[in-house]
Amino acid sequence: MCGIVGAISERNVTPLLLEGLKRLEYRGYDSAGVSVLNQGALHTTCALGKLSQLRAALQDDPKPGTIGIGHTRWATHGAPTEANAHPHCSANVSVVHNGIIENYQDLRQELMEDGAVFTSETDSEVIPHLIERELSRGLATVDAVRNAIKRLEGAFALGILVRGDEEMLVASRRGSPLIV
Ligand code: GLU
Repeated sequence: MCGIVGAISERNVTPLLLEGLKRLEYRGYDSAGVSVLNQGALHTTCALGKLSQLRAALQDDPKPGTIGIGHTRWATHGAPTEANAHPHCSANVSVVHNGIIENYQDLRQELMEDGAVFTSETDSEVIPHLIERELSRGLATVDAVRNAIKRLEGAFALGILVRGDEEMLVASRRGSPLIV
């Protein structure tokens, strides 16, 4: 069982995300990561192992931002590796996912045929690519997410960031719990 957190603030949210993930540690995890938006850029940092590894990576290379998402992963699809750690990203979209996408193989095939490049073995990575495809068709963020999740079979709680939408953190759930 993984944990997902998200935060928007007037100050840097990276410490808030780490604190939120710390509180979810009891659920168990094999890797962790955060994404933040900062002045038009999307920054993602992931680490295998304990949160202290992620904290150390962020100390070496700080990634401040006023909006962000974080994840502790319990691998279901793909080995516990840094490449499979969440958040998973496309060019403009970053997603943390709790749950399982049952039809991910079909979606992955379809998206690859459309030109998407995958960098992990997870079921979750189809989600940012689905949203990215909807955005590239001209949809606004919320509509793009709505269309994308219609394609998903399975259980999910999601935190989503979209580059260019620095004041919006999208959350969505089906089957998995999510507190706002
Ligand atoms: N199914 C996803 C994965 O394997 C999410 C697992 C989780 O809920 O931590 O990456």
